[in-house]
Amino acid sequence: MSNFLAIDQGTTSSRAIVFNSQLSAVVDSQKEYKLSYPNDGWVEADPADILNTVKETVSNVLKYDNPINACGITNQRESTIVWSRETGEPIYPVIIWQDRRTHQLCKELKESGYEKIVRDKTGLVIDPYFSATKIKWILDNVSGARDLADDGKLMFGTIDSFLIYSMTKEKGHYTDVTNASRTMLFNINNMEWDKDLLDLFNIPISMMPHVQPCDGNFGTLDIDSKSISIKGVVGDQQAALVGQNCFNYGDIKSTYGTGCFLMVNTKENIITLEEGLLTTVGYQLNNEVSYAIEGSIYSCGNIIQWLRDKMKFFDNAKDSEVFLNGDGNSKNVHFLPAFNGLGAPYWNSDIRGGFYGITQDSDNTDLITAAFKSICYQTKDITDLLEKNNIKINSLFIDGGMTANKTFCQLLSNILQVNISMPENIESTALGACIVSQIAEGLPIDDLKLKLERLYRPDTASISFYESDYLLWKEYIERTISTIK
Ligand code: ADP
Repeated sequence: MSNFLAIDQGTTSSRAIVFNSQLSAVVDSQKEYKLSYPNDGWVEADPADILNTVKETVSNVLKYDNPINACGITNQRESTIVWSRETGEPIYPVIIWQDRRTHQLCKELKESGYEKIVRDKTGLVIDPYFSATKIKWILDNVSGARDLADDGKLMFGTIDSFLIYSMTKEKGHYTDVTNASRTMLFNINNMEWDKDLLDLFNIPISMMPHVQPCDGNFGTLDIDSKSISIKGVVGDQQAALVGQNCFNYGDIKSTYGTGCFLMVNTKENIITLEEGLLTTVGYQLNNEVSYAIEGSIYSCGNIIQWLRDKMKFFDNAKDSEVFLNGDGNSKNVHFLPAFNGLGAPYWNSDIRGGFYGITQDSDNTDLITAAFKSICYQTKDITDLLEKNNIKINSLFIDGGMTANKTFCQLLSNILQVNISMPENIESTALGACIVSQIAEGLPIDDLKLKLERLYRPDTASISFYESDYLLWKEYIERTISTIK
């Protein structure tokens, strides 16, 4: 029986899973690593931690000597590393996707009227989230970096590129189309790095990785005296789209990890919705490009981590379920989920989080329930926008760490008033990376069958409560935004 190795490099942990040809996980290893927050709105990681946790988890799953056909990599997108072409050493920590340090530059670019050109070329809104301004920040702020870049001595990569460069025999400088599409430097119409945008951000093209389809050849993983071909690379959210078998027009998945990302497959159509949703590359497989619409929510599972680590409301994320009121009643307490600003559809970097409506009677269950509801309401913001633009939400496929929480999943179904399906394997991201490498090895897409574990049906009795509660939450957000200059 043939096996496939999936490497899933996420925001909170690195993971390696061996899947068999039936897409069942055979062995799994996961290792968390720490992020650091050196300044307000800054989020960084040590590249060595990322590399070492990936190496350790891969070694752990390879020691069982299951023969491996090929490897697929999926990774947190946008997070930016710049390293030396001569030594391979990063010149600065990884700037994580959540980092907002370049918001002033983004504001200036918007004020100078670049929004439309960026949107038309990349499908994105101008925001610190994407790699372009992060690369520029490194070149402008790390001593000597600009000269090295101009001399062709620096390489840029998202995490996939850095892993490929650091862990393969060939030391190729590659990325795939999905990761490239999140840099704000990649033209999704002609699928090439865009010269105008590279000039705008003053980034030499010599720094940029070679872009391949998701099912391309990325080199040979060289670890523990084993050689495994890397045949698939796909950004984490797009990997979940593949892992959830969302291959048809209009298929929708929503992933609840550190952030939450809802994606709709629009096949060969580049659809632009004006109101804060992104257009992006879904995947390129078997020489065909499928595009997607994406709603990106920054704060999701990290809210639960905050409730656990800073508020000390519970010891484990799974214990949060005990404090979550299944009926959604938070006694009028509402949570503004904006530790690092708000993503879709608000795109506001200046706003920060808060609770509103606390009274003498409020307790931890109200605060926790309000926090969970804010995640559902952010999803509703996006599904409402899609519906407004005639994209019908018939059902939703969900995955990600938070979906282990059944009360949360039912709350989400009640608030959205749609059926929600959860796959047997909620690690859709790793599964997607495995599927991409299997497709590269000849697996027909039509042969894929997702095993569904659970279906949540909405409770219609709660419609009117959530309608008015959602309006109160929305009012709180809009009122707060209006007070920010
Ligand atoms: P990522 O891929 O972004 O690292 P994961 O998909 O692994 O994230 O999900 C991890 C997140 O899920 C964490 O932020 C954690 O707080 C949250 N989480 C895990 N289990 C639960 C649970 N039972 N209830 C609520 N949140 C949970």
